[in-house]
Parts: sequence; structure tokens; C-alpha cells
Amino acid sequence: MSEEQRPQSGHNHSHCIETALDTAEQLCAEQGQRLTKVRRRALELIWESHRPLGAYQLLAKLAEEGFNSAPPTVYRALDFLLAAGLIHKVESMNAFLGCAHADRAHKGYFLICDDCHNVMEFDYQDIHSSLAARAAEQNFELRSETIELTGLCSTCKDTGAPE
Ligand SMILES: [Zn+2]
Ligand SMILES: [Zn+2]
Ligand SMILES: [Zn+2]
Repeated sequence: MSEEQRPQSGHNHSHCIETALDTAEQLCAEQGQRLTKVRRRALELIWESHRPLGAYQLLAKLAEEGFNSAPPTVYRALDFLLAAGLIHKVESMNAFLGCAHADRAHKGYFLICDDCHNVMEFDYQDIHSSLAARAAEQNFELRSETIELTGLCSTCKDTGAPE
């Protein structure tokens, strides 16, 4: 795993946010899409930490800032960010996580820390080919894959009270 995929190792998080916003601007420009103010701010709020953010939390934050935070507006912004690959939905938490490699196609697999609730992307795309191959053997058409592993992240493991 690269340094920036390890959220807790005392990293410079403003760097994560900057990179994510730059990538978003670039991808939208390439695809002829507009990163409107509300889309951009939603992305930024989701990137505030490596803990996934729920739609209602996002809605409340946008409302506080005076955005049009009617649910349809917020859901449309989330749909846009999801379709653009800029965020992922973490199903078991019903919340959204910024993607650090939005510039390349990949499946979102997650490592979820039970303690600090940070979520890391599990960058192991071989899983996809194995799953697809096994599913095909059973003549099963795979449409979505949700792989969310829970446990303790390296920071929580190290700082856990010994006995
Ligand atoms: Zn970060
Ligand atoms: Zn991702
Ligand atoms: Zn943790």
C-alpha cells in the first residue's frame, strides 16, 4: 500500500483534499462535465476525513453553509460524484468515502476500522478477476461486488490498551 492510502499514519490530510479536488477538476474537464459549486463542496466535505460521511450529515453541513440543501439537490450531487468515480458508497455504513484513485477504473473494496471508523480502500483488484471467474463458472452474471472487511487499523492496533 502506498503512503497516501494509510490515513492514520500522521499524514498531511490537506494534501489528500487538494489532490482529490485537483483530480476532480481535471476529470470533469476531460469529460466535459461541470464541477458545480455544490458538487465541489460536497466532495470537499466528504474528504474532510477518512471516515465515510452519510447523506444526512452532508445535507446538514451544506444547509449550514447556505447551499440549497434540499434532498434532491444533495442526492443529485452524490449521484454525480459516484458516477464520476470521485466517491464510493460504503454499503455497510450507508455512507460515502472520497476515492484517492478516481483517475483509474477500479472496484471499491474497503477495510473498515471498528475502532476509529476510518475506511481505507483495499487496493487488490485481483479479487475482481477471481470473483468474476468463479461466478462465470456457475453461469452467474455478476453485477455488483461489495467487499467490506472490518477489523483494526494499524494505528488503533498499536495504540490499543495492552491487557
Ligand atoms: Zn488524508
Ligand atoms: Zn477508489
Ligand atoms: Zn482505527
